[in-house]
Amino acid sequence: MLCKRTFRYRMYPSKTAEKTLLNTLEICRQTYNDLLEINTETYKNIGKGLSGFGMNYCINYMGGADKTSVHSQVLQNVSDRVGKAFRNFFRRVKEKRKGKHIKVGYPRFKKFGNIKSFTYPQSGYSLDNHVLNLSKIGRINLRIGKKQNRIEGNVKILTIKRMPSGRWFAIFSCEIEIKPKKHKFPKKKVGIDVGLEKFATLSNGIVIENPRFLVKSERRLKLLSRRFSRKKKGSNEIYDSRIKLARIHEKISNQRYDFMHKTTRMLTDKFGLISVEDLNIKGMVRHPYLAKHIHDASWGNFVQMLGYKAENAGGRVAKVNPKGTTQACSQCGNKVPKTLAQRWHRCPVCGLHIGRDLNSAKEMLRRATAGTAERYADGDGSSPLGEILESSPSEKSEAPQLVGG
Ligand SMILES: [Zn+2]
Repeated sequence: MLCKRTFRYRMYPSKTAEKTLLNTLEICRQTYNDLLEINTETYKNIGKGLSGFGMNYCINYMGGADKTSVHSQVLQNVSDRVGKAFRNFFRRVKEKRKGKHIKVGYPRFKKFGNIKSFTYPQSGYSLDNHVLNLSKIGRINLRIGKKQNRIEGNVKILTIKRMPSGRWFAIFSCEIEIKPKKHKFPKKKVGIDVGLEKFATLSNGIVIENPRFLVKSERRLKLLSRRFSRKKKGSNEIYDSRIKLARIHEKISNQRYDFMHKTTRMLTDKFGLISVEDLNIKGMVRHPYLAKHIHDASWGNFVQMLGYKAENAGGRVAKVNPKGTTQACSQCGNKVPKTLAQRWHRCPVCGLHIGRDLNSAKEMLRRATAGTAERYADGDGSSPLGEILESSPSEKSEAPQLVGG
């Protein structure tokens, strides 16, 4: 079975290499804008945009910045991006016509600094131990660290990304051949309910707490963002403050990512079947609170990790429709309405009296085993995780805390 995996490493470019990297981003941005303009013109004239081939052809004849200083495939990837922006635009137009309430939004020009990554789709790079050799840029050191972080399989795509904090990352998308395996405990099953207060509640009564270091960092983030909003626009202070804020954002996502790696590893080792709520169904509800958004994003990453780790271990992840899981009684199926404030589930029919989250987790498992699971996570790592990480896990991380059980 062919699976996709992503590996990311921090890059340590020299001053000269960094200049070239920044210049590459800038040329990509100009190319993006030029192609957008050409496409718009062509569309006005003949009622049709350019094909990918047509755009690649144009790149060679466009004026402006010296495009020979950037690898040709990197520029071709820019035309792919423009093509994608247009496809998404036409998709939104169609959806709007069908009566969906969305903003159509024509593809926009990228302002200075607004292209943050560039991609080598097939070639133009090589990796020699921890030294990455980029065509037209040069040799850059990577921090690869521990054995389990080494690249596996065949590299398909390499993306170079600059974070708001100014750090650079190399992201390798690979394809790995994985042999189907039998899980050690195929009969062990679990349902998982995630929350804001507790990280997750398992159907066997175990509670996974939010790690302390995350709670701490998030508190600091709140403080910094409050300070940031008080700073004067355009001042030096706001610049420093912005970098500080970006760094802490990155630190938090590294820590969270590391924590999720450990937690998902533990779960997929222990259970042959894991049942979670299907976020694609749940995602239709927009949450008014920011915390909830972040939470949902990291939950999405969590499910993705569960998916591919389960695949490695020979287990499965079932995604069930989350509708009504908090209301339904996990023992008899009776509907027990409760408000958000009610933390306990008391069933008047069968007398079940357990915590609200535990009931949801049990209900999730019941739905999965009753064969009503809508979809199974396929463990396809193709959509890269929304958050960036450093290749070596942070030293301060703790193993997931288990309570009860
Ligand atoms: Zn009941």
